[in-house]
Amino acid sequence: MPQFPSVFVFCLTLLLPLLTGCSGAGEKVGTKGPNVVLISVDSLRRDHLSTYGYRNRLAPDVPTTPAIDRLAKGGLRFDDAVSSTSWTLPSHMALMTGLPDTLHGVVNNEKRLDPALSTLAQLLRARGYQTGGFFTGPNLHPIFGFSQGFDTYESCSEVDMPVESFQGTTNPRRFDMHEASHKGLTSPALLERSLAWLNEAAAKDDPFFLFVHWWDPHYDYDPPEQYAEMFDPGYDGDSDATEFYKSHQMKTPRDMQHVLSMYDAEIRYTDDHIGMLLARIEKLGLAQDTLIVFTADHGEEFFDHGKKGHQRNFYDESVRLPLVMRLPGVLPSGKSVQRMARIQDIGPTILDLCDVAAPDYFEGVSLRSSWEPRDPDVKSVAPVQILSLELPGKGINKVGLRRKDLKVVWDFEEQTGELFVLYDDPGEMNPLVFTDFDDPAHPAVRFFKQSIQELEARRALLPRTVGHVGVDDLPADLIEDLAGFGYLDNDHGEQE
Ligand SMILES: [Zn+2]
Repeated sequence: MPQFPSVFVFCLTLLLPLLTGCSGAGEKVGTKGPNVVLISVDSLRRDHLSTYGYRNRLAPDVPTTPAIDRLAKGGLRFDDAVSSTSWTLPSHMALMTGLPDTLHGVVNNEKRLDPALSTLAQLLRARGYQTGGFFTGPNLHPIFGFSQGFDTYESCSEVDMPVESFQGTTNPRRFDMHEASHKGLTSPALLERSLAWLNEAAAKDDPFFLFVHWWDPHYDYDPPEQYAEMFDPGYDGDSDATEFYKSHQMKTPRDMQHVLSMYDAEIRYTDDHIGMLLARIEKLGLAQDTLIVFTADHGEEFFDHGKKGHQRNFYDESVRLPLVMRLPGVLPSGKSVQRMARIQDIGPTILDLCDVAAPDYFEGVSLRSSWEPRDPDVKSVAPVQILSLELPGKGINKVGLRRKDLKVVWDFEEQTGELFVLYDDPGEMNPLVFTDFDDPAHPAVRFFKQSIQELEARRALLPRTVGHVGVDDLPADLIEDLAGFGYLDNDHGEQE
């Protein structure tokens, strides 16, 4: 594990010299394909970005995401991007594998990726890319298969993440590790490590793929004081945003607004750090040759439908994502796309823009038709996303369908379903409730079942090398990787 000084000793001021001390790498020449920087911000609700028109009620003049606003001005903004679920592990796996959750199979903390499935990093590395990944949340740990294809894959969290904390279905160390990871601020350490890797990669001839996973907007909400003051100046109530997830309902709407403002403050804090990463790319002279992809893994509930947090529901506040891509001279600038995009389409789109073939079994598709004129003779079919939450330990087992005009959800535990016509009811407040999943009378529910069956049929296309794929049963090559990245001591590696 890399060791970092306390994140609290970092501040934006300390990072500024990093921005000015990077002139040695110079202009990159001879790049065979565009560089790729993939940015994922955890728990980032699409409708809290100023990029999508959001304004905080208490601070309407303070944008939450000025860096992403600038990125979108020079790139392509997708207005209806959708995740594969409402939590971190499976959605990031969909991002990395071009497969929705039911196909990549990493649907809970006990599963890991079948190494026969290719990752984005692996496919790019095979084409000569340098690959570096930097993460901050336990659910991005290499034990799940995320390190597959990365030359460097590092945790930038202060929280120790030994392999043993992930194993065993009722392991209390796992809970403690997750709890600890929610505290503190990780953006400075994440930025520092990412910039150091970027500087080295930029000095070499081969193109690079950099993945950066940001964690601070994930609860709890504990922004630096100056950011808290930006979004809720002078608040003297008794709402503690750091305890929001554990506590029950807020006492007053004003206290609830304080929580939302602290969430926004952490978004802005993260955006400022992303802005420094983007500034470094400019300073290195790489902006014209670098594809920037900005997205999230899922959103967050703030009692929109009676609950808070994530990993519970498929309402749009949980599954809709921000998505912005910029590649000057290739992607249109300052335009927006209304057609629905899915998280598993992001990898195939990156590969397409890098002229790297995606495997035939990928379910995700390149989004190129979103910015290039379509053949009028080819019938256009509205994209469909199958959503999944399969958490037996939490008593949650749901499947859903999201199309631009439609949402259908079936809860296997409650044996009940909800259907929303999104054009008429974008807030999902007026469900048509149904209780028979097997013999549905409504055409939309029939379409739902048919879509699930079609997806299941694709399973036969997937390459497979192992039967049981769990974190309690690690193959030798993954143990080697884990040891190489510092997640195992030598004894553990030798025992296996
Ligand atoms: Zn997440």
